[in-house]
Amino acid sequence: MAKAIVIGSGVGGLATAIRLRAKGFQVVVLEKNEYPGGKLSEIQLDGFHFDKGPSLFTQPTNFEKLFAAANRNFYDYVSVKKLEEANRYFFSDGTVVHAFIDRQKFEEEVQRKLGEKPQAITTYLQEAQQLYEGIGKIFLDYPLHRIKTWLQKKIVKALALVKLSHLFQSVHQYNEKRFRNHKTIQIFNRFATYNGSNPYQAPAMLTMIPHLEQNEGAFYPKGGMISLTQSMYQLATELGVVFEFNTEVRRLHTYNGRVLYAETQNQKVEGDIFVSNMDVFYTYNQLLNRKDKSQQIAKLERSTSAIIFYWGVKVKSQALSLHNILFSDDYKKEFDQLFVQKQLPDDPTIYINITSKLDESHAPADAENWFVMVNAPAKQSIVTNEQLMKLKDTVLQKIKRFLSIDIQAAIITEFIWTPQGIDTDTNSYLGSLYGSASNDKIAAFMRHANESSEYKNLFFCGGSVHPGGGIPLCLKSAVLVEQLVTEKFSA
Ligand SMILES: Cc1cc2nc3c(=O)[nH]c(=O)nc-3n(C[C@H](O)[C@H](O)[C@H](O)COP(=O)(O)OP(=O)(O)OC[C@H]3O[C@@H](n4cnc5c(N)ncnc54)[C@H](O)[C@@H]3O)c2cc1C
Repeated sequence: MAKAIVIGSGVGGLATAIRLRAKGFQVVVLEKNEYPGGKLSEIQLDGFHFDKGPSLFTQPTNFEKLFAAANRNFYDYVSVKKLEEANRYFFSDGTVVHAFIDRQKFEEEVQRKLGEKPQAITTYLQEAQQLYEGIGKIFLDYPLHRIKTWLQKKIVKALALVKLSHLFQSVHQYNEKRFRNHKTIQIFNRFATYNGSNPYQAPAMLTMIPHLEQNEGAFYPKGGMISLTQSMYQLATELGVVFEFNTEVRRLHTYNGRVLYAETQNQKVEGDIFVSNMDVFYTYNQLLNRKDKSQQIAKLERSTSAIIFYWGVKVKSQALSLHNILFSDDYKKEFDQLFVQKQLPDDPTIYINITSKLDESHAPADAENWFVMVNAPAKQSIVTNEQLMKLKDTVLQKIKRFLSIDIQAAIITEFIWTPQGIDTDTNSYLGSLYGSASNDKIAAFMRHANESSEYKNLFFCGGSVHPGGGIPLCLKSAVLVEQLVTEKFSA
């Protein structure tokens, strides 16, 4: 039986391991941490549970397909609830907008609070759907580096649907033409951050992203996002995937255009197929010692990183929901600071996620688990303690101003994750959450393919390669790896 070695057990690595095992390959996952999931992991702190990374769950269909590939039903493993409200948006003048998933309710809300015509929302979300179903699926579901992808009739047909405005306008320029209120524009601009991009640079193609949330829906897996990792890990072990934790791959040894074995701290692991779920920059830089290739990858602009405060707070907040956004006043300036000046914003948009609103076991009875995140630039220099404390103060003051809650006095436990921490803990270059950014029109073509052009048995999955970051896309990368592997190898 051919043996596949998967390096890393992030979402992409777990999904690839399941898919290859379901196809009959022997699969061994080598993971440097003592737990699976990579960014999709958890923290237990003084009676509080926190999902460490992702908090927004969209497109459960990707999980349904993954489990179906192994003849299982995803919902036997995780119970999933569709949310009524995707996000709650707060503005500095006191305006609060509830982004209901129900289209009519959302349109009424936006009309009442922001004076937007319901038709403007309807048209926008219909266009987002058309864009996703016409073009998006091609960019996400096919290997873009293969000539044969571009020769297919349906692809040529779909490409004809691309409007110049999708390519030559930024997300912001596109939204500006569709909505009258700057708050609505800000709400829809924010979707560019779902893959760590800048709405003032990224092409309007990204305006398909709201389709995933506002049309298809936002979901919550019972037990928190960690249930997604746990379900994949459980399925993989049931199928017979072997996991070796605390096992860091230090080198991939190659000969004659093939990877021969992976060297860890204490063993040489041979295999027929190697799949790296490690950031592609580090895969070339560290494992293959190919500085030429890693420098090429480093030239691509990185997606944003983040600073997250995990606060156990002795508060029951009435105004907040599961997902909450406290917007900045000058969104353009915030993104200039993140992407151009590469500094922490003076007035950051704050995202607060509180899973104890839905899962009481995530916090003691009189408390809540606040996951408080602000975007940070992905860059070489580290965030100093002084910068961190200044940011914390800004965040605390802003929460007090927007929500009239003195959260500082209510914090009973704290953990902080910084760009350096994200980089070290998950080997994500510069702490980027989503690999390279989509700020450039040709970003999708520049992202590394799911197979190596030089090493016949080396493949790549996860957020740093095609089709990009975020849980749905990492799961799609596993589908592509399965296709590419099974074209070349039989189990
Ligand atoms: C704070 C935060 C918030 C986010 N919010 C969302 C969200 O709301 N929704 C969403 O969809 N996405 C979100 N994301 C992005 C999402 O988490 C990632 O795109 C996705 O989890 C990345 O998965 P991956 O397969 O690339 O692997 P990663 O999670 O990057 O994991 C890689 C794994 O490989 C292991 N590894 C690396 N190098 C080696 C080595 N040499 N040897 C052995 N093992 C190795 C690492 O330890 C790790 O376990 C967020 C991310 C973060 C950090």
